[in-house]
Amino acid sequence: MRTVQLFWGVVLLNVAVVWALFFTVAPEPKNAVHGVGLFLGLHAALLMILQLTLVARLPWLDRRIGMDRLTSWHRWTGFTLFWVVVLHAVFVIAGYAAGPQSTAWQQFRRFAGMPGPLAGMIALVVVVVAAGVSIRYARRRLQYETWHAVHVFLYAAVALVLIHQLFEFSAFTASPVARAYWWALWVFAVGALLVGRVAVPLWRNARHQFRVAAVVPESDDVVSVHVRGRDLDKLPARAGQFFIWRFPGYARWWQANPFSLSAAPDGRSLRLTAKAVGGASAALRHIPVGSRVFAEGPYGAFTSLRRTRDKTLLIAGGVGVTPIRALLEELSGDVVVLYRVHRREDAVLLAELEALARARGARIELLTGRTGAGDPPFTPFEPHHLAATVPDVTDRDVFVCGPPAMTTAVIRALRALKVPRRQVHAERFSLAA
Ligand SMILES: Cc1cc2nc3c(=O)[nH]c(=O)nc-3n(C[C@H](O)[C@H](O)[C@H](O)COP(=O)(O)OP(=O)(O)OC[C@H]3O[C@@H](n4cnc5c(N)ncnc54)[C@H](O)[C@@H]3O)c2cc1C
Repeated sequence: MRTVQLFWGVVLLNVAVVWALFFTVAPEPKNAVHGVGLFLGLHAALLMILQLTLVARLPWLDRRIGMDRLTSWHRWTGFTLFWVVVLHAVFVIAGYAAGPQSTAWQQFRRFAGMPGPLAGMIALVVVVVAAGVSIRYARRRLQYETWHAVHVFLYAAVALVLIHQLFEFSAFTASPVARAYWWALWVFAVGALLVGRVAVPLWRNARHQFRVAAVVPESDDVVSVHVRGRDLDKLPARAGQFFIWRFPGYARWWQANPFSLSAAPDGRSLRLTAKAVGGASAALRHIPVGSRVFAEGPYGAFTSLRRTRDKTLLIAGGVGVTPIRALLEELSGDVVVLYRVHRREDAVLLAELEALARARGARIELLTGRTGAGDPPFTPFEPHHLAATVPDVTDRDVFVCGPPAMTTAVIRALRALKVPRRQVHAERFSLAA
């Protein structure tokens, strides 16, 4: 069974267990409205546990599902959590206020004075703010660091939700079985987070002792950083994967940026190639050789393990060439590479790509020009153009990495050309949006 189905199967199984516990051992609610509130509250806890698992960066899950897909699920689970938490609060307060003795406002004030409900209310505020800054409109206007800092508060919200659950006499504490079940879920989720986010990165960095070995400008705004370390042959990295890089002592330690490997790992060194788009990526050019590097990873499922066919089409756009360049080094068989840039001078790593293509008998085509310019307009990723450039595209696995608009256009064209979904693999260079 594929990991994706297995993952969602386990999630559904847990939903079933929560329902079973709710309808068998949970205490009687005050009324139907209050009952709906309690029911939603248990789902909110389950969604939070799911959220923790999705961001835990467990190597096993990440390798099979890919961090971009896990992050996208995390985003949608987050918005679902927002609605479930809000409705939980509304229904519980409305349920208590249904009697003649008090109004919703009086109930709200009463809850605000009790530790359990108060913990839940504060968690609710954090979830609402985190959802607010994650809406596309707000996300585009906020600095990555601000958006990230708000998300860090969600860890505090998790602790508050746990306190809230413990204080409330609900399905959590209703029976020994329910208690054991919920504790097992929470221990798993928090444990996964500690293992994936703390223990594995610390252990890997202590073991490999990464350091900058060379900094090589590739163009005016693109630079490659070569990294060496101990026992790199034991690092389970593959072409197409990325690390989240920190340069402590040089850049601020809390700044961490994801960059793909731009060469297949050879057991002796790693290489990243970055385009200067903001502070951290621009500063890479000035990092002294010998600087310490803290690297989290490898992450991502954009690797040759995803291949289902013998023939491959690699499509790169701009600096999206980095994982494509690494994949070309590793792939065997019939490979076609399309590299989309505005001008030939913009095509970083082109000489390397051409040398690799020659050595492997791969066909490489540089697609230059402005989209829509000329008559007929230049539209390289319209279905008919793509089919003309690569007539056997439906027989190939397609790996695409480029700017979001290009990646979307390519995926749309591949759908129109009836390339099966399992043959299409995309890396979006975006974990947050
Ligand atoms: C999986 C992945 C692989 C990538 N590989 C490459 C690569 O090989 N070469 C390359 O040039 N770029 C790559 N990127 C993009 C690169 O991470 C950003 O350009 C870089 O982090 C920008 O940081 P900055 O501080 O210079 O710019 P900023 O101005 O701070 O950020 C510019 C944009 O980058 C995004 N960004 C900033 N920091 C992070 C972060 N820590 N995590 C996620 N997104 C962030 C923000 O959404 C922002 O819109 C990759 C991104 C991802 C998600």
